[in-house]
Amino acid sequence: MERKYAPAKRSLGQNFLVDQNICRKIVDALDIKPGENVLEIGPGRGALTRHVAERNPGRYVVLEMDDALADALQHDFPAIEIVRGDALAYDWASLNPAEGWKIVGNLPYNIASPLIWDIVSRAGFARAVFMVQLEAGQRLAAKPGGKDYGALSVFVQNHATAELLFRVPPHVFRPQPKVTSAVLRFFLRPTKPTQHEALRLSSTLRMCFQQRRKQLGTILKSHEVSGYEEVLRALCIDPVQRPETLEPERFLALAKLLPLDFLA
Ligand code: SAM
Repeated sequence: MERKYAPAKRSLGQNFLVDQNICRKIVDALDIKPGENVLEIGPGRGALTRHVAERNPGRYVVLEMDDALADALQHDFPAIEIVRGDALAYDWASLNPAEGWKIVGNLPYNIASPLIWDIVSRAGFARAVFMVQLEAGQRLAAKPGGKDYGALSVFVQNHATAELLFRVPPHVFRPQPKVTSAVLRFFLRPTKPTQHEALRLSSTLRMCFQQRRKQLGTILKSHEVSGYEEVLRALCIDPVQRPETLEPERFLALAKLLPLDFLA
């Protein structure tokens, strides 16, 4: 008999996938081998969960904030480990890189960007596949020079490769969102920034992208960053360059060399 669910909660970004081909395509992109560990964010009514479970993962952990949905999932999939609560509060650093975690989720639109920011900088994972709003997906995967390229692109791409795999139209969800979605795949870089470097990078990005149309030299001068001219010279960065044209790895090099006095 079909299960009766409470109406979808807009506050929790509940747009449930109803197209089995799309679900399968998302889970295929995760490439789960039997015995591998999987963590799913926001399993909801289990659209992706049943496809993951079919692939015989080792540990299968899910993070779900809606208690009623968590209860139904625990009943339908007794073997999964359910963590009830906010995925933004999850201890991402507890995912051990040696355990080869694969992370998947059709993410609530309102938390997708900060959540991916946290995950790539703190969690150890072998691969991650996320569905997000198309605009967020374009920012995550953007290359320098365009309007989508910003702090999110630079921060995330310094930690992981971000690849937009395919778009997903509104009609495959219930209720239907007003926007198009996109599925992205991430692989951690073998040499990602340390926690300290990540902190410096995020401060540098906050400073630079607040004034993305200004020249880098002007921005650093207006923040009274001491010795910025020598740093730019040492990195062969032209002070008239604008932040939106500087590649992710050049931003990291800049963040590592700038004096600490601008860190708030
Ligand atoms: N995976 C399901 C699917 O594709 O049909 C549901 C996706 S729905 C877009 C987002 C899911 O995330 C919902 O189940 C919602 O309850 C859950 N959720 C929303 N905010 C959350 C949060 N902060 N932490 C954990 N889960 C959350």
